[in-house]
Amino acid sequence: MNLLLLDASELNIHYEACLTDRRHQHLKSIHKPVAGDHFKAGIINGQVGSAVILEHTSDFTRIQLTLETSPPAALPVTLLLALPRPRMLARSLEHLSTLGVKDIHLLHTARVEKSYWQSPELQAGKIHQHLLLGLEQARDTLLPQVSLHQRFKPFVEDRLPELSAASRKLVAHPGNYPECPRGLQERVTLAIGPEGGFVDYEIDKLVAGGFQPVQLGERILRVETAVTALLARLF
Ligand code: SAH
Repeated sequence: MNLLLLDASELNIHYEACLTDRRHQHLKSIHKPVAGDHFKAGIINGQVGSAVILEHTSDFTRIQLTLETSPPAALPVTLLLALPRPRMLARSLEHLSTLGVKDIHLLHTARVEKSYWQSPELQAGKIHQHLLLGLEQARDTLLPQVSLHQRFKPFVEDRLPELSAASRKLVAHPGNYPECPRGLQERVTLAIGPEGGFVDYEIDKLVAGGFQPVQLGERILRVETAVTALLARLF
């Protein structure tokens, strides 16, 4: 945890908060703080700054926040991700949150197992936890938005044109395609497939919507690795 992340509702009018949960346990077991120690802190969807320890006991930690600066800049990307298997979803969401992606669309495709949509990892509370862990890692406060789309065709035909308007549209797809571009300044909509890849029909639909297939070389990467490699390369 590189940042103590708080919800604004946890603060009193003096910007003080009393932590008893995971954050308190983390301070207790890793940092063993004493009154007067400072830690990086931030408010969800707000500023970052520091927290001074007012009181630390085995049951709670009382802190007071001073907020100073804006969180790091977001990546200019809208990400379409074929719904990965639950464990990979958890890690992918955490990576995406750490890397600064703010607009995430989880999508059904032909090679996504239908049962994945029933996973407890898709409950709002679970998604929120993974995103928070990612933000804490990156010292970011801006919570990504995650939307779920269980039908590929209506999403691509009805929602995607607006979502991807005024952006460069890329779909990561191994094969004989142009190399994924590097160091872009413009806004990008990036589609990443499931473990089994996109089927031809899906690539055709995306291409019809203005998406360019791009590849990262002959090595096939796991989804969570592909996400990181693609974003590092694009930006
Ligand atoms: N079995 C599939 C690969 C799936 S990898 C196949 O052989 O086509 C999961 C997703 O990660 C892919 O759909 C793609 O979006 C991305 N990906 C992984 N490795 C890639 C590479 N070398 N080039 C482009 N995209 C890649």
